[in-house]
Amino acid sequence: MLRPETGYRFRNWDETLECRPKHLYRPESEEEILEIVREASDAGETVRTFGAGHSWAPLVVTDDTLINLDRLDRIVSVDAEQQRVTVQAGIRIKELNRLLPKHGLAMKNLGSIGEQSIAGAISTATHGTGLKLGALHTQVVGIELLTGSGRRLAISENEDPELSALHSERIWSCVDRLWRGGLESFCLVATRG
Ligand SMILES: Cc1cc2nc3c(=O)[nH]c(=O)nc-3n(C[C@H](O)[C@H](O)[C@H](O)COP(=O)(O)OP(=O)(O)OC[C@H]3O[C@@H](n4cnc5c(N)ncnc54)[C@H](O)[C@@H]3O)c2cc1C
Repeated sequence: MLRPETGYRFRNWDETLECRPKHLYRPESEEEILEIVREASDAGETVRTFGAGHSWAPLVVTDDTLINLDRLDRIVSVDAEQQRVTVQAGIRIKELNRLLPKHGLAMKNLGSIGEQSIAGAISTATHGTGLKLGALHTQVVGIELLTGSGRRLAISENEDPELSALHSERIWSCVDRLWRGGLESFCLVATRG
């Protein structure tokens, strides 16, 4: 079992949110996440997750168990032809911006910074500008969740477009991997009138 850090103080980006969870984990695999979730669930405790901690919403704060996915930060696979990339949830957007162009790919839309984890960004509808460009979660074509009851749940655009399976799951889901689509590389030019 992965050993937790104790005495950790979480603070979000502008320090408007703070908590001191009993345990902080930084897992390196899905198996470790599942172990953490099952143990917390058995103990009747709450599990929350965070990426870069840039959100102002009090959705990370807990006295129980906090998980950070910074160590799950890889691109898992790239299909340049289909413009699809599978990434681990903790990867930062700035890292995607660095790596995707090597495959001729790019994010369709971005916010004003690149510090966010991809899971944090799609969980909060992070967006940029552009009338025809959806928020980041609209680029997701599949997702793998680890649920509060310790189950793996894979959802794809073909199998479950409404993500309805989630409604039967309790308490908490941890985004583990995301499949992204429609990522053709492009060049953005800023003009001033
Ligand atoms: C300086 C600054 C500039 C910003 N600019 C923009 C902008 O231009 N456009 C815009 O729309 N937003 C912007 N934001 C907001 C930011 O994009 C969001 O708050 C985003 O959620 C931050 O990502 P994060 O990794 O820090 O998420 P966190 O703050 O770490 O988490 C956000 C939410 O996602 C959940 N979460 C994180 N990881 C996982 C996971 N693996 N599984 C399940 N849930 C998870 C958390 O529990 C929480 O509910 C900005 C924020 C800052 C501080």
